[in-house]
Amino acid sequence: MTPRWPVLVLCTTLLAAASASACQQQPPARGFTLRYETPDPADEDHAALLHAHRPAERAVAALNAYLDLPAPVTVLARSCSGEGTGYDPAARRIELCYDDLADDRDLLDDDAAAADVTAETVYHEAGHALIDTLGLPVASDRAEEDTADTFAAFMLIREGPRGERTLLAAAEAYRLEPPPEPGPDEHAPPAERAAAHLCLLHGAAPERHPGPAAPGCTPAWPTVRDAWTRELALLLRTPGPGPASG
Ligand SMILES: [Zn+2]
Repeated sequence: MTPRWPVLVLCTTLLAAASASACQQQPPARGFTLRYETPDPADEDHAALLHAHRPAERAVAALNAYLDLPAPVTVLARSCSGEGTGYDPAARRIELCYDDLADDRDLLDDDAAAADVTAETVYHEAGHALIDTLGLPVASDRAEEDTADTFAAFMLIREGPRGERTLLAAAEAYRLEPPPEPGPDEHAPPAERAAAHLCLLHGAAPERHPGPAAPGCTPAWPTVRDAWTRELALLLRTPGPGPASG
């Protein structure tokens, strides 16, 4: 059987030969890889929280277990000096800003939940990476943001109850976020992003999340589940959520 991670296999050999540095400079040729940069002093506490709770490791592992993406995408946790978290298509890199945690820790007043929300962030940015890599059609920047949000919800719902708790925490952070400054913004208003997450959660697991779904919730969970399962069909390592899940 051909190894799926030939570079990692090579790295294992190199590590066995006590030559780790060459290995660390060779990311895999495909799939998602996580790296951490040394944080600025102001971000050290946030970086420590990420290392303790490992939400980015969890998201990257789930992405690679689910998908065989035929391109390398790096998730780089770093101090962004004011630049926001985002996906850079030219570098195929997700820049995950340590200081995102500051807002979520303030909003949620729960460090574990705030760290968990980072998994939702990684999945959202991975949605952008998939739209880019697979050339998925999106009608506008706003449509791309909404689609990336549905991918985050889709991946978290796939995780089962733990992912559902993360999706709830992410929705709560959006609900508590102050309204955005007037001006152009490709994202939906945070209250709408919260409602969309809760609506998908209710649609996917109404027995665990019976709370009120927004009336006329669009897109509904079956639409999101079927659309992502169809778009990713050629990359899937494992089946998606079954049709019986709502
Ligand atoms: Zn986005």
